[in-house]
Amino acid sequence: MILLKINPLNPNKEKIRIAAEAINKGNLVAFPTETVYGLGADATNSDAVLKIFKAKNRPLDNPIIVHISSIDQLEYVARDIPEVAYILTKKFWPGPLSIVLKRNEKIAKETSAGLDTVSVRLPMHPIALELINQSFKPIAAPSANKSGRPSPTTAKHVLEDFSEEIDVIIDGGRTIFGVESTVIDLTKENPVLLRPGALPINVIEKEIGKITIPDFAKGFKVDVENIAVTSPGIKYRHYAPQKPLILIEGDEEKIVSMMKKIIDEKSAQGKKVGIIGSEETINKIKIDNVIAEILGSRKNLFTIAYNLFSKLRKIDHEVDVIIAEGYPEYGIGLTVMNRLRKAASEIILA
Ligand code: AMP
Ligand code: MG
Repeated sequence: MILLKINPLNPNKEKIRIAAEAINKGNLVAFPTETVYGLGADATNSDAVLKIFKAKNRPLDNPIIVHISSIDQLEYVARDIPEVAYILTKKFWPGPLSIVLKRNEKIAKETSAGLDTVSVRLPMHPIALELINQSFKPIAAPSANKSGRPSPTTAKHVLEDFSEEIDVIIDGGRTIFGVESTVIDLTKENPVLLRPGALPINVIEKEIGKITIPDFAKGFKVDVENIAVTSPGIKYRHYAPQKPLILIEGDEEKIVSMMKKIIDEKSAQGKKVGIIGSEETINKIKIDNVIAEILGSRKNLFTIAYNLFSKLRKIDHEVDVIIAEGYPEYGIGLTVMNRLRKAASEIILA
């Protein structure tokens, strides 16, 4: 495995050439994007894409987002592109928005897990763009973590989960948003949110009107037998720490008293308790034998989203049980709640 340290603000083209050559040979490259680190392979090469599934232990029916570096490449990746796609790409690309369209057959069917659709994104991170440019290929890249684990926001997180399975790891520092892209399905009559992400839904709705938000997009467990699954990824547990995570939802005051109660219970069982929460909640708890990680203020949920995965990974090493609080489901708050509910082993309504 080759580790390349690259300045994200002025990426060294020679170093990126090493990574681009690996992509062209059908090998795996982990690289930073503005959302989280991706584990990339040539999206047109079935064998290369299968290496991603194998390295991550990713279920073969969970499709992977394809990354391009210029809007001209969209028609190489997708077909029958509706007008609404161009409205969105013009406004939000490059950036943390993935759109699901009909798949062009040049994209390996394994990339889309056999579906006739493809999810596409044009990222804004200079290293990601240079890598795609130099490899001259659309790059299939899910998050660079073992399947089900919290997404990586630093190269160190990637190295926690992988070693020799990956050929090249680019260390380009911390990612910008710290959560994944927003995924919108444009193959239906009305746009449908498949996954809330770094770009808030209310911002997108200003451009294209109402977007359907199914329950699964809020992070609630779905009964897969009873719904038509268009995005198979939704049925798997995600973003989870190794230790149990108890999520407490409700209004602020009630969260605090319920949190105190759970801390007492777990401590009495001899468990080391950790909280990842807002500064407002943690300041009200003030209990000595608890490890507390502040994600940010409830007044700025972007900071909460930015810190969520890295603090989850950190606290996971230090405690036996993790407690987190719920946030308002508006804007980026919906993204935070989706991740927390999927990561939780138990949800308590305070
Ligand atoms: P990740 O595993 O973090 O890369 O997440 C990718 C998400 O996008 C998963 O929820 C996938 O199910 C979804 N996705 C990717 N490609 C498609 C597609 N062609 N159709 C529907 N959902 C997709
Ligand atoms: Mg992922």
